[in-house]
Amino acid sequence: MMIDLVSDTTTLPSQAMLETIFHAQLGDAGRLDANGRGEDVTTNRLEDLAASVTGKEAAIFCPTGTIANNCAILARCSPGSTILLEKRQHILEVEKICFQQDGFRMIPALYSLDQNGDPDLSEIKKQLETKPVQMVCIENTHNFSGGKCMSISAMKQIKGLCAQRGIPIHLDGARLFNAAEALGVSPKAITEHCDSVMFCISKGLGAPIGSLLCGSAAFISKAREWRKLLGGTMRQSGIAAACGIYALENNAARLAEDRENAQYLAKRLHGLKALRADLQPQSNILLLDLSRAGITGEQFNALLNQKGIRGYILSATEFRLVFHLGITREDAAYVAEQILAIDQTLL
Ligand SMILES: *Cc1c(COP(=O)(O)O)cnc(C)c1O
Repeated sequence: MMIDLVSDTTTLPSQAMLETIFHAQLGDAGRLDANGRGEDVTTNRLEDLAASVTGKEAAIFCPTGTIANNCAILARCSPGSTILLEKRQHILEVEKICFQQDGFRMIPALYSLDQNGDPDLSEIKKQLETKPVQMVCIENTHNFSGGKCMSISAMKQIKGLCAQRGIPIHLDGARLFNAAEALGVSPKAITEHCDSVMFCISKGLGAPIGSLLCGSAAFISKAREWRKLLGGTMRQSGIAAACGIYALENNAARLAEDRENAQYLAKRLHGLKALRADLQPQSNILLLDLSRAGITGEQFNALLNQKGIRGYILSATEFRLVFHLGITREDAAYVAEQILAIDQTLL
């Protein structure tokens, strides 16, 4: 069987999670009642749970994180709006549509992150002072920097800078629960520093489908309209929401294991000669640097595949390994041995 470290999106629902579907009360989530809530009771339960864990007034269930992030942006901005974000954020690098000329033609203003995943606050301040920024987007944990966690103090300072100017902050918290675990705080201690947050249940939490967008009641009601226009309003979404409720109630508590496995692998890789590893992964992602190893990501992945391991080619020089509930400590030990063995054959 493949040890699949390509992403935490590869997690499969457990039997116990799937069984919650049989008992889920369902309705048409796209048909709203007098209170503006959909008719699917199970989806409403998940939305209420999400609002409660993030400390926000309301939430909507979306098919993907991409739709949820874009609903958040479109609820606040329009073509021509300037959005401050970091250049390797998922919203900019992968989702793109808000910034494309054949999309919503918004304008990115950029800030950078240091090696620890914390933002350059002086850059943020300068951008806020010189550009008509309408919204700030942050990402925690930060996927493409290898699951780095933005500190609570940095988020607090960003919030301070934005609050003075009345600028809303959206958190792309695809891995919010991994960030909370790594920082040793509750999700709320993170989300209190943003106005809206998206988190995925389809990643480390192990549900098959979906993401939640949380924020004020007024914001969520606008986002709900955008969800409809973007085709993100599902019908008997309680089938997926039931798994999400199970994920929040049962799988959030085990995320430390994934971080510990990533850190265990990093420790085992201290002796690498040609490859280099991020020796201090902060959450469930470990990045390898191939730049001095004389090997392409494709070649390295092919060598791993021969040993029953799969990872993700992040860029020409970066290779990503993601830990999740399908990966045991024994798997991590085997992966360490195989990477060390491959490393010996390089250079
Ligand atoms: C996965 C991810 C998303 C988008 O989620 P999808 O459900 O794949 O659309 C957004 N932001 C980050 C940081 C992610 O890792």
